[in-house]
Parts: sequence; C-alpha cells; structure tokens
Amino acid sequence: MKLTLQLRLLPTHAQADALRATMAAFNAAATYAAQAGFAAGLFGQVSLHHLVYYEMRATFALSSQMAVRAIAKAVECFQRDKTVCPTFSPDSAICYDQRVLSFHGLSTASLWAIGGRVEVPFICGPYQRARQGRIKGQTDLVYRGGAWYLLCTIEMPEAPLLAPQDVLGVDLGVVNLATTSDGTTHSGHAVEACRTRYAQCRKGLQRAGTVSQMSGKRPKKIRQALQRMAQKEAAFRRDVNHCISKTLIASAKGTQRGIALEALTHIRSRSRFRQPQRARTAGWAFAQLRAFIEYKATLAGVPVVLVDPRHTSQGCNRCGHVERANRFSQARFSCTQCDYTTHADFNAANNIRDRARVKVPLVAVPLR
Ligand SMILES: [Zn+2]
Repeated sequence: MKLTLQLRLLPTHAQADALRATMAAFNAAATYAAQAGFAAGLFGQVSLHHLVYYEMRATFALSSQMAVRAIAKAVECFQRDKTVCPTFSPDSAICYDQRVLSFHGLSTASLWAIGGRVEVPFICGPYQRARQGRIKGQTDLVYRGGAWYLLCTIEMPEAPLLAPQDVLGVDLGVVNLATTSDGTTHSGHAVEACRTRYAQCRKGLQRAGTVSQMSGKRPKKIRQALQRMAQKEAAFRRDVNHCISKTLIASAKGTQRGIALEALTHIRSRSRFRQPQRARTAGWAFAQLRAFIEYKATLAGVPVVLVDPRHTSQGCNRCGHVERANRFSQARFSCTQCDYTTHADFNAANNIRDRARVKVPLVAVPLR
C-alpha cells in the first residue's frame, strides 16, 4: 500500500532562498512547457521534450533531469485535461526523483537547486525513522504555511488479512468521535474545546484586521495569523484522529476481530449542529477519521465491514424495535417497547456490530 511520508526540512536562510528560486524557476519552466505544448497540440512527454527541452534549459537554468521533471509536471496535467492550458504558481510543488534528491543517513536530504545542491537537515522522529528505508520513487518538495516539507511516497507492506472470530462495531459521531461495541468511548470534548478556543481567537483577529476597502483583503499579518491558527487546529484534530484509529485497530487486531462501520450512503440527520462552522469542521474531520481507520486496517490486515446505516441509532439492540422516540436524548437510548436503556452511541455500535456479524463469515473460536 502506498502512503505519503512527510519530512519537515530545516533549511538555513540561504538554503531557503535557493529552494525558493529553484521552485519558481521549475514552475515557470513547467508553465512554459505547458503553454508551448498547448499551442502546438503536443501533450506527451516525448513530443513535448523534443519541442521545448533545449529552449527550456537555456532559459530557466535547470539541470537536464529537472527540465525532464518540469515537462513531466505539464504532461501530468494534460493527462487529466487537454482542454485547458495549466499555469503553475511560483510556490507550487517540485517533483524530485532519485537523480536529483538523495538522503544522507537519517538527518540530511541533498536536493538539486539552482546554484548547486543544498544539503538540508530534516526532522526525523521515530515514525519517520522506521519508514525512511521505504521511500520509493517520486518525492515532492512543498512549501506550506512558511515551512518546507518533503512528501515522499513509501510502499508499506500489508499484513495478511486475518480471519475474524468476531466484529468490533464502531459508531462514529460528533459529540463522541467514536464509540465501540465494547463500550469504549472516544469523546469529542477536547476537539470541541480546541475548536471553540480557536474560534474565539479568530473572532478577535477578524475584528482587529478589518477588510480593506481597496484590496478587499485583510492585512497580511492578520491573514497569516488566521491561516496559522487554522493549521494548528487541523493538526490537533489530525493527531486525535490518528490516536483513535490506532487504538481501534490495535483493539480489533489483538482480539482477532474485524471492524464494522456504517457505510457512507447519506449524510446522517442525527447529528444536529449548533453552527454551520461546526458542521463543516465535523464533516471533514469525520471523513478523515474514517479514512485513517480504513488505511490502518488495511496495513494491519484487519477486515473492515461496512453496514447499512439506516436506523442504527433508533433501533433497539435488545428487541429490534425501531422508533424515533427510542432516542431519548442525544446521549440516552431508551426503548419504548422493552425499556432497554443505555448510552445511545453504545446501542448504535452494537447494532453496527450485529449487522456486520451476519455479513462476514466468522471463524469459530477454538475451544480451550
Ligand atoms: Zn427494545
């Protein structure tokens, strides 16, 4: 399975300048190649190469391999759509390959740049250290929010799919991000507190930086502060989602179980949001948690079973009675038929597990 490994570079000022100049030249060259190809009706790597290669190297001071990469960037765009001529911004990503990028041990990357190669140190934590040997093929250099990163494609081995003895039902939500049929709850409280805190800061900043009549924009400093804040909030949420998904997969794998989730067929009406902002935040974060659970499950060999999401929150797990009134409150489930009363998300997680149990062949637990 292909994943992306992110390495944060720590260039000196001079190195950052060299990278910035290289990035600008690379993207100008890619734009030039795209325009020439578009005008001539040539969209392939080879034909475009014949058309622009020498001109490009003379104009943009790129090495031969970098010129090839710049042409490839234009070609990649044409592969998606030949009806528009792409233009690349000066800080758009550069795609490096092994001929123009190499690693020296676990701490330094050597990158081709205009004016000579630069040896840039990068941050390498235990996660990166364990995966660095798996970097295969293309690596993108990106500049994001004032920082430089290498996004490396890595090939991770997938564990053989385990034969599940049972299923762990997982209900994803907003108040509780994840609740399992084992009764474990991952509360969304910390995430919500973080979001509220940032929302307040944001309001303050928006008040401080009024939109200019002339440009229709806020002052640059305020804009940057707002952007930084959004990034920090997203990073926090990503971290939470990584932790939850990791715990869920470990618990399923450790007990020889598959994981059951609701299939995404419609937007659930059961989460009611206070504000549109919250709905937006919850929307992408929700999708992110699902995506994390799914890819970690694939790596770990844990089968994922998707079940019909209808009435998982209104159906009673004891007697099967379905009624809206069963959902006593956001948190409480109380069956109007059999009086079964429990946490609403726990009831839903159990329904999800039960639906999955009939969908997958379960391996009998060996008797001890
Ligand atoms: Zn009931």
